[in-house]
Amino acid sequence: MSDLVIPQHILDDLVAHARELDPYECCGLMAGINGTVTYVYRITNIVALEGAEKLSSFDPAKAAHLERLSPAERAEIAFVMDMQDFSAAKKDIRNKGLDLQVVYHSHPHDPARPSITDIKIATDYEEIWPKINLPIPNYLLISLMEKSKPDIRLYNIKGGNVTPAEITTPI
Ligand SMILES: [Zn+2]
Repeated sequence: MSDLVIPQHILDDLVAHARELDPYECCGLMAGINGTVTYVYRITNIVALEGAEKLSSFDPAKAAHLERLSPAERAEIAFVMDMQDFSAAKKDIRNKGLDLQVVYHSHPHDPARPSITDIKIATDYEEIWPKINLPIPNYLLISLMEKSKPDIRLYNIKGGNVTPAEITTPI
């Protein structure tokens, strides 16, 4: 996965999602075909609903994963995808014959680049995607640091390395 074509209405939808959840982070998936994003799946951010202190009681797999993080890294986690939403999106992507292309989330107060924890989690997940029959996605960040000027950026994260990828928007 690398550069992607993302239509303006989809970029607008991402910004709308980020603004709805602000000051919490929003998260979701994007899918499409042949390098063009056609569909956004908003995923419930458990942290925004329940508060981070309840995190570990949710999903045993996720809790085991969190235990590998340092306390500082854990404290930095601001989104955890609801697994039911994730499964429903995964099923719909398959039914529509689309490819999973992107995992996105917002940074309400920070720049549109992956945090150290974002990079660590993405790196850990590299071995999980093939096990659930999904390609390794790109990562998209929506920054609301400047509230009136959202910044959207796309990255590849492989082996702990972050490489910017290009977003092309047809006029
Ligand atoms: Zn982040």
